[in-house]
Formats: sequence, structure tokens, C-alpha cells
Amino acid sequence: MLDQIVKAPLIDIRQVGRSFPKPSGKDVVVLENVDLTIKEGEIVGLLGRSGSGKSTLLRIIAGLISPSAGQAQCRGAAIQGPPLGVSMVFQSFALFPWLTVLQNVELGLEAKGVDRAERRKLALAAIDLIGLDGFENAFPRELSGGMRQRVGFARALVVHPDLLLMDEPFSALDVLTAETLRTDMIDLWMEGRLPMKSVLIVTHNIEEAVLMCDRILVFSSNPGRVAQELKVNLSHPRNRLDPVFRQLVDNI
Ligand code: ADP
Ligand code: MG
Repeated sequence: MLDQIVKAPLIDIRQVGRSFPKPSGKDVVVLENVDLTIKEGEIVGLLGRSGSGKSTLLRIIAGLISPSAGQAQCRGAAIQGPPLGVSMVFQSFALFPWLTVLQNVELGLEAKGVDRAERRKLALAAIDLIGLDGFENAFPRELSGGMRQRVGFARALVVHPDLLLMDEPFSALDVLTAETLRTDMIDLWMEGRLPMKSVLIVTHNIEEAVLMCDRILVFSSNPGRVAQELKVNLSHPRNRLDPVFRQLVDNI
């Protein structure tokens, strides 16, 4: 059994399908025969058209919904509810409006059974890391979109996740705010200060995917399926042209 846990990949998605009932009565098939494995330490990007089922796949991995076919496993065990060590940054922030920044972030630790004092300490550290020092007692409605998503990041990172799922984390923000937050996150990442081990990020930004990921999965639509896998080639001349990319290569 222990052997199985050690050898099992962090995430193993096999032949997963998901359909939703339509008002007309017939089911709509959103995902079909999806295969995906994530090993600990991997940074994986997911690209695909709107409506192709990317968020649905992330929700399955996060244990928020179950597949209608196939198997979704985390460390060799079927995903039934949110797996320990997996957290998610949502496109639309998904903060609780009646809780303060600190309470929203502490919530990330609830399932882990961390005691109160330790919860507070970890939450304040995550808030500080993500640039929200001084806003601990603010409510989400008092914050800008960029700051709200910083809370989303803090809540997901506070658990020091084995896997961080990010569902188009910058796409609900205006261009400038998105760029600031993206740059801040990449800087923290490059400095080794983001406490997650592996990442699955959904993005429409190809540059972002190339910059951050070890491999990129391309999703097809109707129904959603992993159609192609690209290994990021660090020596590709187009990649070398990008100044941020050069900085990344310098850091390797
Ligand atoms: P993406 O994230 O790639 O844009 P989604 O996973 O959000 O795609 O959605 C894929 C399709 O599944 C869409 O057509 C959407 O309307 C449908 N869908 C997603 N969630 C539900 C749901 N809970 N009930 C019915 N249909 C849904
Ligand atoms: Mg989506």
C-alpha cells in the first residue's frame, strides 16, 4: 500500500468524461476520454478555447465535481472531495464577501486541522508574501480586483500546496492590473518564494505558458480532450528573444 502511494503520480486522470444535463433533456458531453498525469514538481500549462471544458477538468481535480466516466486519482486514491495538498486559484476570485482578508485566507487551512495560533501565523505570512500587508481586516468589497485576486492566491498558497491549480487567474482583471500581478507572481516564483510543488495553470496567454511551464497541454473542443502535448524548448530562438525569458534562462 505504502509502495503504491510512493509510486503513484500526484494526479492521474484516466479516460475521464463529464457531461451536464441540458434543459432540453439531452446531456451535453463536455469532457471525453481525458488522460493527464502530473508528477510532483511539474509545471503544466493547459491551453484551449473557451467552453472546451478546462475549468470543468480543474474542478474535477480539485474535487469540487466528480467525473461521469473514467478515473480521477490523487496519489493513487480516487478523488472524492478536495484532496489534501491541492488548492485552486479561481478565475472569478471566489472569495467569501462576509469574511475579511485574514479570515478568507485562514479558511484555506481549515481542512488541514491547523491550530488557531498557527493558522493566524501562516495566514499573515501568506498575506505579507502576496503584497497585502495592512489589508488583513479589509473585506473583499473594499479591495480592487487585483487585490482580491491576491487574496485568492494567498488563500491557495497558505497551505503550501503540493499542487496549485490556477484557472485563468489573471483573465478577470484589466490589462494593466493583470500585467502587474502576473509580473509580481513570476518574480516571486523565480525567487523561489512561492510555496507550491507543482502547478497546473489554465491560460490563454501563450507567452505565459511558455515562460512558466515544463509542458503545455492543448485542449480540443466539443468534447474537451487533451489533443496535443508540447514540451517547452528552452533553446528555441523565439523563446530566447523574449527578455523575460532570457532572465529566466539566466536563473537556471
Ligand atoms: P472552459 O473553462 O474551457 O471555458 P468550462 O469547463 O467552463 O469551459 O465549460 C465547458 C462547457 O460546460 C460549457 O459549455 C459550459 O456551459 C458547460 N458547463 C460547465 N459547467 C456546467 C454546469 N455546472 N452545468 C451545465 N453546464 C456546464
Ligand atoms: Mg474556464
